[in-house]
Amino acid sequence: MADKPIQIRSSLAVVQDHSRHFADFTFVYPVISRRARGLSIGINLNPDKVCNFDCVYCEVDRTIPGKVSKVDLNQMRDELKAMIHFVRDGGLAREPKFDELPSFITRNVKDIAFSGDGEPTLIHNFAECVQAVAAVKRAEGLAKTRIVLITDGAGLDKADVRRGLEIMDAHNGEIWGKLDAGSEPYFKLVNRTTVRFERILKNLAETAQARPIVIQSLFLKIRGDAMPSGELDAYCDRLNEIVREGGQVKEVHAYTVARPTPEPFAAKLSAEELRALTETIRRRTGLSVFAFD
Ligand code: SF4
Repeated sequence: MADKPIQIRSSLAVVQDHSRHFADFTFVYPVISRRARGLSIGINLNPDKVCNFDCVYCEVDRTIPGKVSKVDLNQMRDELKAMIHFVRDGGLAREPKFDELPSFITRNVKDIAFSGDGEPTLIHNFAECVQAVAAVKRAEGLAKTRIVLITDGAGLDKADVRRGLEIMDAHNGEIWGKLDAGSEPYFKLVNRTTVRFERILKNLAETAQARPIVIQSLFLKIRGDAMPSGELDAYCDRLNEIVREGGQVKEVHAYTVARPTPEPFAAKLSAEELRALTETIRRRTGLSVFAFD
């Protein structure tokens, strides 16, 4: 059965606050995510803040080094169990900011998401981390809870990551792959990486050929300019190519800058601008496109 739509206002403080740090936890943090449609427990696989992209809109402050340099799997597992119990016992529902929402939202773990301060697929033992999360999810009886990977797509062709994706497939997994551009130059402008755009497109297509994926796209203004219309056309062409090559795109999440970024020239689109852009993508691709302003 499809998820019951939940109205979560973007203006709520708990939605604005996507801090990856909660109490004395190191790897696990709770967020209210409109894209997850409720409570998401984040797993930070990059406490060292390492990423192979340097997106102009990234909120991670890399001028301050990370607290720890690698993931302690046992600690991550213990923290995840403790967080699930805290949520279930109503502890999270009583926390400041979270207490603004009804408890049916703050007591229901919609997903456990590999996200955090960098790119999760850069970790050398991604499959082992997925296995650990899947074991906790099973032991806690969270059959409906998704395991989500939020990724820039660059590591989706690694053998260990592919093994991790297969474990996710068996445990209600979902991959959210980033696609912010339609051409190499715009990709370099927004995502500022040495990874080639072609590789990202190939990885997204191959991953989508094996299971339906979600495409997540951040649209913004760079030095006052929104994505040019030719670039938006190219972006729609890339989505159509993924589908034409046999890829399954479950939905597209179109969103914009929500919180302050270290780059002052990266600014958010208005709700109207994002809605207009979303309508174009829908019309040009026929895909389910959701806007999160
Ligand atoms: S991929 Fe994510 S973590 Fe990496 S730079 Fe971009 S927004 Fe930041």
